[in-house]
Amino acid sequence: MKINLANIKKAQKLLNKGECVAIPTETVYGLAANAYSDKACKKIYKLKKRPKKNPLIVHYLNSQILEIDCKLNKDFQKLYKIFCPGPITFILDLKKNSKISKIVTNKKNTLAVRFPKHPITRSLLKKLKFPLAAPSANLFSKVSAVSSADVEDDFGKKIKYVLEGGKSSIGLESTIIDVRSKPKVLRLGGIEISTIEKILKKKLL
Ligand code: AMP
Ligand code: MG
Repeated sequence: MKINLANIKKAQKLLNKGECVAIPTETVYGLAANAYSDKACKKIYKLKKRPKKNPLIVHYLNSQILEIDCKLNKDFQKLYKIFCPGPITFILDLKKNSKISKIVTNKKNTLAVRFPKHPITRSLLKKLKFPLAAPSANLFSKVSAVSSADVEDDFGKKIKYVLEGGKSSIGLESTIIDVRSKPKVLRLGGIEISTIEKILKKKLL
């Protein structure tokens, strides 16, 4: 899919103003907002009708930028090298001085993070001065959106903008792993557990 810079600029402008924008990723479409802003993140919950206690996944361009907010460790680095950017989400400890909104984490000291592979969303992230909190772009309890048309079906004019990125190539949510101590699978998804176990040379809980 060709990258349309005017579309990316439009998304960038709205996100800078604290609005929500739907973004394409290789797993599913996300409903994104500035992860450093309480006000912007509150809009995600409201639009999705998502219970406030469900924390959000935050999308970063790379691990260097993530290091501002989270404590990284060896298991994370091993998996990052092989699978990122890609359909894997990590649970990590937040740093004390992290700027992540408490709305995103439901006041926990941990954060779910991912590095999306979709080239359009990567070029958007390159332009932003903040990471993007983004759950799947569907109403709570509905199936995840894998195209801009799916997003529009659920939200219509309630979302200011859907950044077009074609059909999500994987069409399945990311695998979530808690890598803070003994690595533990929290959700099955785009990457197989056996592949992860081979890289870490240990069994996952
Ligand atoms: P969704 O954004 O709808 O794909 O779902 C996000 C998933 O990430 C949910 O299953 C959350 O429970 C999970 N999640 C987000 N943050 C955390 C966290 N800090 N610890 C554990 N699970 C998390
Ligand atoms: Mg979801």
